[in-house]
Amino acid sequence: MTYIGLGSNLDNPIQQIRLALHRLTELPDTRLCCHSSLYRSVPLGAMDQPDYINAVAKLETTLSALQLLSELQRLEIQQGRVRTSERWSARTLDLDILLYNQMDSQDPRLTLPHPGLYLRNFVLYPLYECEPDLILPNGQVLQTMIQKRIPQGLEKLLS
Ligand code: ATP
Ligand code: CA
Ligand code: CA
Repeated sequence: MTYIGLGSNLDNPIQQIRLALHRLTELPDTRLCCHSSLYRSVPLGAMDQPDYINAVAKLETTLSALQLLSELQRLEIQQGRVRTSERWSARTLDLDILLYNQMDSQDPRLTLPHPGLYLRNFVLYPLYECEPDLILPNGQVLQTMIQKRIPQGLEKLLS
């Protein structure tokens, strides 16, 4: 199974995430199994940017991890993402591969699991909603991690 983290904080972020979830259903050789609710989160990095809308989607795919990454980058561009040199700057759409099966990769072009996975509330909470029984590749039980955390900076939106 593959889990994708979605984020947007520009140009009607709720619509951007809904559209991206729809487009994930249209990827070749891929099935969207389920997705979380939408969440609102405070930005990482520069705080002078709008709040984010986030979600997590669970996919089953026969694309390779690199093929999937390039499909996701195509969707980001299709939804008007402009890449800047600044890290964590505002964007219409960000699609991160959080996990790709049990794959471990230290390649900077594709690091797996995604380095933010273990740290970010806006990833952990929607991931837990998608997959409450998940055990992360480092052996940590997602439910236990959630129970130890405070959902600071995160608000689940009513659907
Ligand atoms: P962060 O990765 O900390 O969430 P970001 O999403 O803002 O930051 P981007 O500018 O979207 O970072 O991506 C920078 C590069 O990260 C991409 O060009 C991509 O090749 C690389 N990358 C490495 N691992 C992954 C991954 N698991 N999923 C998506 N992109 C990745
Ligand atoms: Ca990201
Ligand atoms: Ca990204």
